[in-house]
Order: sequence, then structure tokens, then C-alpha cells
Amino acid sequence: MQTRSPTGQVDLLQLVASQRPELRAVGSRTSKSPCFKTEGCEIDLAAFSEMEHLGDGRVRVGAGVILDDLLTYLALHKLALPNIGEWAGQTIAGVISTGTHGGSYEHASVCAAVTKLSLIDGMGELRIFERGDPGFDLLLPSFGCTGILVEFELLCPPIFNLALGRRWLDFEDYISELITNPEHVEFRSSIWLPAAGKVLDYSAKRVESTAGYENHREPRFNDTAMVFDWISRQPSKWSNRGIFAGGSLIANLTQSLTQPLSLLFPDKQYLGSYLDILAPLRGSAADILAKRARNRTPPEGEFAVSYANAPRLLRHLDKLFRVQGLAPDRPIGLRPGAKENGALSATLDGPCVWVSMFIYADNPFMRLLPDILVEFEARPHWGKCVFHRPSDIPALYPRWNEFCEFRKSLDPEGRFINKFAADFGIE
Ligand SMILES: Cc1cc2nc3c(=O)[nH]c(=O)nc-3n(C[C@H](O)[C@H](O)[C@H](O)COP(=O)(O)OP(=O)(O)OC[C@H]3O[C@@H](n4cnc5c(N)ncnc54)[C@H](O)[C@@H]3O)c2cc1C
Repeated sequence: MQTRSPTGQVDLLQLVASQRPELRAVGSRTSKSPCFKTEGCEIDLAAFSEMEHLGDGRVRVGAGVILDDLLTYLALHKLALPNIGEWAGQTIAGVISTGTHGGSYEHASVCAAVTKLSLIDGMGELRIFERGDPGFDLLLPSFGCTGILVEFELLCPPIFNLALGRRWLDFEDYISELITNPEHVEFRSSIWLPAAGKVLDYSAKRVESTAGYENHREPRFNDTAMVFDWISRQPSKWSNRGIFAGGSLIANLTQSLTQPLSLLFPDKQYLGSYLDILAPLRGSAADILAKRARNRTPPEGEFAVSYANAPRLLRHLDKLFRVQGLAPDRPIGLRPGAKENGALSATLDGPCVWVSMFIYADNPFMRLLPDILVEFEARPHWGKCVFHRPSDIPALYPRWNEFCEFRKSLDPEGRFINKFAADFGIE
């Protein structure tokens, strides 16, 4: 594998014309799936870092811009992205190519803010696509296999502030709120501790002013909640090994072990800029990658299920965890997601619930998960580990064949096909 870092568009066009092996544009290389990996030539677009406010909320941004820098630039112009994930160390091209999203009932992934894009196709031609053009919805997201994205135009709303409420909910109460959203919150992200039967919920609404309030919230997957999730999973594991008789003894023990949770995380409200509230995870890509290696973090996958399937799936998992003592290796993340138009987007035919799980490969739950994903028609996040059997993926997308044909028209020689894409049968 070689890495090339073109200095600008002319250099990039020459590079594409002169290189024969597999080409793969990369961002910060922080995806949890191998979507950015290549055995050919890796193209780093860090030099494509221009940003320009074009007026009326339209912003031109180079593919290599780090999201944090974009958000700072937008804030200077009193603009925002409609929705963001919990961390901003990725490149904008990485975010858009994988369909990176936050948790919102009203806003889809960052792809939904793109109105125009330029890419270099497999023949070395610069192509421009605008929203509404045939093909536009086939490009976002497409994890690097349709070409090298060089620039985007985004439509950005005015910057906004949020009031965020933190509270514990019993699992069943949470499920009944998750889809119906009785409080009409705009943003929500939660973690479910299945053994404790509790959900730590963060939900947010817009406010005008944030004066005088604390805005420094903890990340959703914080260390304390992780430790308590681990503790709460132990009694059912002992019971599975025959150390306890089971039943109410286990339930009572789990209950008392997790009692301090509500003291450590009492109900609380935070107010702040949408940036501080929605993206509390800090650190550069290098910091995050070093931490991932140091902590041996379990592989994280995330998948989306329709509103119709989500309550059934969550209850199915709950039963499985309680009856069989199985569970992922960290709390489970839950976030709503709004519908969008991308052919390979997880919410192409309606809103969803995103479910994220951290699971070591040798966790026995991994043996059951691929069948569960098929049964509940779950679609993967392209930038996180894909826990599906690769052969199950195409059937999840009604426009899969159309996508493959369009992709081939942009890249007849398959120069942008890496192993990740080839495993799904994309050629
Ligand atoms: C700490 C952390 C927190 C995260 N939180 C969230 C979250 O809240 N929500 C969420 O949805 N995701 C989240 N993610 C996932 C993350 O946002 C995505 O994996 C994202 O793609 C990473 O961006 P990157 O710049 O590292 O891209 P890379 O990993 O380098 O690349 C991702 C994909 O984009 C393609 N690509 C990159 N640049 C180009 C280009 N110029 N042209 C064409 N293709 C290109 C690559 O080929 C690859 O397929 C998180 C990841 C981490 C590490």
C-alpha cells in the first residue's frame, strides 16, 4: 500500500491518470469498519481544506476539512449543521461517505445537508452533481466506491442553542417514548444497560439563551456508566454458570449493585451551543486512535431498524439478554434517525432507531446477531463494524442494483473497489 497526498485538483487529476492500482480516498482513517482500507494507493485529501461562505447559508467546503474546523468556521458566520455526531475529529468527506449521523427525530445524517458535490470518477474526469440530478441520491453515502470526492456545497441553518435533559428511564417506559416522542424533543441519544433494565436518556430541545448555565456535559458512553453496566451483567453470568439459583435473587442483586447509578447521575439539565451539547467527545483523530489501541475497545457496530421493527427488536433482545445471560460488552446506544434519500442510506424509506453495540469477536452473542439483523431488516452504518453476513446486505436496499450499475458507469475498471466493497458483491 502506498499513500499519496495531492496538493490540489490538478495534482489529483494527474495522480488518477498515472496510477493503475486500486485507488482509495481516505479521511482521518477513524472508521470502525475497514471501509477506508486498501491494498492499492491511498489518497489523503488533507490539502483540500478550503471553506467559503457563499451567502444564504450556503457553504463550499473541501473534502479534507476536519469537521471541528468546519463547525468553528460555521459558528463564525452564525451558521450550523442541522445535526452532528458525538465527535468532530473526522473529515467532512469521511462523514458524508459513511452517512455519519446524530440522534434526531427531525434531522437525518450530514448527507442531507449536501446540495452539490464534485468528484473525480474512475476515468479521471471531474464530475459535478447537484441535488435533484439523476445520480445524486446514488452517491451519498457510498463509502468511497463511486470516486474521489473533492468538494461539497452544504446548506447550513442558523446556529442554535439546546437545553439537554438527562434522566434514567425504566426500559419499558423508554420504549414507549422512543417512537412516540411525547415531549416533542428534537434530539435524543441514550444508552441502555440491559441487565439493570435502565436507560440513561439525553434529550434536547432548542432554547434562545444559555446564559448562566453549565454546558459541560459528560459523553453518553462515559466511564462510570460503562463500569456499572459491567457490574450489572455479572449476576446473570454467575447464574448461568450455576453459582446462583437465579430468578428474583439475581434481579435483587442486580438492583442493589446498580442502585448508586441514580445518585451518580441524578436528573439534570444542561444548556449550551448545539456543538457542546451534541458533540461532547473531544480529541483529535490521532488521540482517538491511540486510545482505541490502548483500551482494546470492543469493535463497535451500529445498525438502523424501522420504527415498525424497533420496539419488537429491543424487546426481543431484552428477553434474550435476561433469559440467556448474553449481552454486548458495553451499554447499548440508541438514537432516532430521520428519513433521507440516499440509495444506500439506512433511512431511505422512513425514520429509524439506530442501535449501536460494542462486542468482542468471541462474545457468544455474536453467533446469534447476524440472524437477528436479517429478521429485523436492520441496515448497517458503513463507518462502523458491519455485523451482518456480507451476503445479506444487498437485499436490504431496494435500489442496490441501480446503485451498482451507476457506480460501474463512473468506474468501469473497478478502481474504487476495495475488499470492504467487494465483500458485498459490488464490482
Ligand atoms: C470517536 C468516534 C465517534 C464517532 N461518533 C459517531 C457518531 O456519533 N455518529 C456516527 O454516525 N458515526 C460516528 N463515528 C463514525 C465516524 O463518523 C465515521 O466512521 C467517519 O467516516 C470517520 O471519518 P474519517 O474522516 O475518519 O473517514 P475514513 O475512516 O478515513 O473514511 C471513511 C470512508 O469515507 C471514504 N472517504 C473518505 N474521504 C473520501 C473522499 N474524499 N472521497 C471519497 N471517499 C472518501 C473512505 O474511502 C471510507 O470509505 C464515530 C467514530 C469515532 C472514531
